[in-house]
Amino acid sequence: MTDLRELYLQVLLEHSRSPRNFGKLAGANYRAEGRNPLCGDELTVYVDVEEGMVRDIAFVGSGCAISKASASIMTQAVKGKTLEEARSLFNDFQEMVTSRVGEEVETEPLGKLAVFLGVREFPVRVKCATLPWHTLNAALEGEEEPASTE
Ligand code: ZN
Repeated sequence: MTDLRELYLQVLLEHSRSPRNFGKLAGANYRAEGRNPLCGDELTVYVDVEEGMVRDIAFVGSGCAISKASASIMTQAVKGKTLEEARSLFNDFQEMVTSRVGEEVETEPLGKLAVFLGVREFPVRVKCATLPWHTLNAALEGEEEPASTE
């Protein structure tokens, strides 16, 4: 268990240092801003949805290591997924980070997102980890924005 934790921590730090899909997305037709005032995390998520599928996704913003790593890994996880699959990942992720410490969680469907399992031990950090997901959700449920606004 300690080894697994160490590995998770490595993945987390690596993503926070060099986040994937970081930057504005020119072809995005959905966009939302998210904020976690408790920690000071702020980010904007850009999504390019075509035919019910996340064709591309990117984010910009600043915040703590956990929020950045979470946004980075989230973009990797949902790219190429259908909106339904993305929503289901969000639900599984949310369930995992809000589960009780010690409770068995099925992490297999979550893939690399499982690195955030340890966050449940730090309730203040749960918001950092879920912020990118809430922002993605807001983007997908929000008004469609013209791709040329940025
Ligand atoms: Zn944070």
